[in-house]
Amino acid sequence: MKIKKVEFTDFRNIESEEISFSDGINVIWGENAQGKTNIVEGIYLFARGKGFRAAKDKELIRFGKDISYVKLFFEKGGTDTEMGAEIQKTSKKIFYKNRVRAERISDIIGDFRAVLFCPSHLGIINDSPSVRRRFLDVAISQLKPVYIKMLSRYNTVMEQRNAILKMSPEARENYKDMLTVYSSQLASLCADIALMRYEYVKKLDIWVKKFFSEMTSGSEEPKIKYESDGWREGITKEAAEKKYFSLLTENIDKEIKYGATLYGIHKDDLETDLNGKDARYYASQGQTRSFALAMKLAEGEISREETGEYPVFLLDDVLSELDRSRKKYILSNISDRQVIITCCEKSLFCASKDVFFVNIEGGRVKYPRRRKTQQKTASEKA
Ligand code: ATP
Ligand code: MG
Repeated sequence: MKIKKVEFTDFRNIESEEISFSDGINVIWGENAQGKTNIVEGIYLFARGKGFRAAKDKELIRFGKDISYVKLFFEKGGTDTEMGAEIQKTSKKIFYKNRVRAERISDIIGDFRAVLFCPSHLGIINDSPSVRRRFLDVAISQLKPVYIKMLSRYNTVMEQRNAILKMSPEARENYKDMLTVYSSQLASLCADIALMRYEYVKKLDIWVKKFFSEMTSGSEEPKIKYESDGWREGITKEAAEKKYFSLLTENIDKEIKYGATLYGIHKDDLETDLNGKDARYYASQGQTRSFALAMKLAEGEISREETGEYPVFLLDDVLSELDRSRKKYILSNISDRQVIITCCEKSLFCASKDVFFVNIEGGRVKYPRRRKTQQKTASEKA
């Protein structure tokens, strides 16, 4: 998977720019607040279906404008693909694949695959469970289109179930059967989603062990497990569905009290152990960073295993947060794929001759003069 070019129109602080990339390491550099992360966010839009920083799509539209466009040109398995996103202030954003409009976002997720690594991911081990669930959801969605559909169905059913739980006792009486139907639908979706997460986590565990042991010369042993009320090691999907259904029916009084669904895959977590101790509570800052780094590299390996190709790696400002040895470790591990790195200081890369530099200033791309030929080379390839 290789990005050839990305085009922006009125996206964040970028008025109109076209950026070509090389197949290897690309460094987007510039001072703070110039638009480096905006470029990464625009690219990752096609992997995740939404901006990774924006709470609302309209935040992506350039101030004072009503519409924003991003176009991504990439090569996958020898085939060129063009994807487009149209973000409007007043209506839902639209995605296009090879100029054909996608009916749903889930129709395009997985076509372009990327692993994003930014400073907030360094806290993945001891952040809240929702951050670890999001990590799983984004990673699995890119590999299994059905997963994102199930997740979206799950959220819809849960919202409808919560609406009944919040009703007055008299009103709820009329929806008693509906509540059971929703509980049964949720239980079935829980079993399907938990199984997919569990299988992903098993693979993650293998790769994280490998990367972690390389980083620490084999002296520390990490373990990742899927943690859930309804799912456990060795359970069948049918038994898990029954377990979720009983949790959702036996605790109904408690759920009515809280006006919310208290059991299900929206409560699950990733248990991360280091040397037999829960890393969430006992790992040092350095250990949690190595763990996070190993998880991101593992995400890339699983994607390659399942699809036959490495995803694009997007490293947004993360290198400045890592110490020398971890920085060196990540750079040596990703040298064989396309990487887009943002940083304020390009000096770290000046010694490497195969790096493609893109300078950004006030939302405008400026290719450094002494590397003028590189611009030509990358756009000729595109
Ligand atoms: P840093 O090195 O600090 O991470 P950066 O180069 O990554 O900086 P970005 O996060 O990409 O900077 O943001 C660049 C600028 O974009 C900021 O000044 C921000 O105010 C501006 N910006 C954000 N959203 C919009 C928008 N919708 N319209 C116009 N400008 C925006
Ligand atoms: Mg930034």
